[in-house]
Amino acid sequence: MTLLRQNRELKRLGIWNWSLPAFAGKLPDGRNYNACPSAGICAQVCYARNGTYLFPQVKARHQDNLRWTMDDLPDWQHAMLDELSHKRFIDAWVRIHDSGDFYSRAYLTAWLEIMRARQRTRFYAYTKEVAAFRELVEPSPPRNFWWVYSYGGTQDSTLDPDTDRVADVFPDEQAIADAGWHSQEASDLLAVLGPAPVGIPANNIAHFKARQAGRRWSRWQAGVEAARAARRTGTQPATAAGGDRSGASGDPQ
Ligand code: SF4
Repeated sequence: MTLLRQNRELKRLGIWNWSLPAFAGKLPDGRNYNACPSAGICAQVCYARNGTYLFPQVKARHQDNLRWTMDDLPDWQHAMLDELSHKRFIDAWVRIHDSGDFYSRAYLTAWLEIMRARQRTRFYAYTKEVAAFRELVEPSPPRNFWWVYSYGGTQDSTLDPDTDRVADVFPDEQAIADAGWHSQEASDLLAVLGPAPVGIPANNIAHFKARQAGRRWSRWQAGVEAARAARRTGTQPATAAGGDRSGASGDPQ
C-alpha cells in the first residue's frame, strides 16, 4: 500500500502528501475520533470536509490511515520509514497532513523520529497543535522539518506573530496585500520558506465564503473566544459574537 500520495496541485510542485481525515468522525468500527483536536472555527470552513475529500474511497483511505496510527503506531511508523527509504524521496518534500493534524503527542513523536531517520527528505506542516510543538518540537527540531502555525484554532491566543511563524486565511488576495502579509498562493512551500507572516486566500467554495463573511480566520476565532468568555462572566464582549466582520485591515495581529 502506498502511504504518500500526490494530488494534482502538490504533484505540480513535486510534493508528496500524507493525509488523515479532517476533524471529528466515526470509524467504520464505531469508534469516535478527532484528528484535529485544536480545530476552532476552521472546522466550519475546512476544505477537507468538502468536495473530493468526501468521496467514499477517499474518506475510507484517510480513515484507514488514522486507524493504523491509532491501533499500531510502531507498525505504521515502520511502514512509513520503509516507504521513505525509496530513492524518489531523496531531496523530495513531504507535506504532513493536507488534512488532519498531529492529534496526539505519541503520533507527533513518531513523526519526529521518522524525520530524524530520513534526513535526505524534507518535511513540512501546517499545525494548530501549538502546545505540543512548544513542548516536543521547538526545543530541538529536526533540521529537515519546517512548520507554520495556522490560525483558526483553539490555541490561537498563545501565538505571537513577532516570534512564531504564522499563517492566516484571508477572504482574498487583496485582503492579504492590504494587511501586509505574504501570500503562499504561488507555491504551498512559501508557507514555510517564503516571507512571513503568511496569508492564504480562502478557497473558492461559495457556502464557506458566505460563512467566513469577509473575516480573516484569526479575527473570527478571537471573536468566538471573546463571546464565550463574555458568556462565562456575564459581560458584553468587546465585539459581536463571531468577531470583526470587516476583513483584513492592516494589523497583522
Ligand atoms: S485543522 Fe485543518 S484539517 Fe482540521 S478541521 Fe481545521 S482546517 Fe480542517
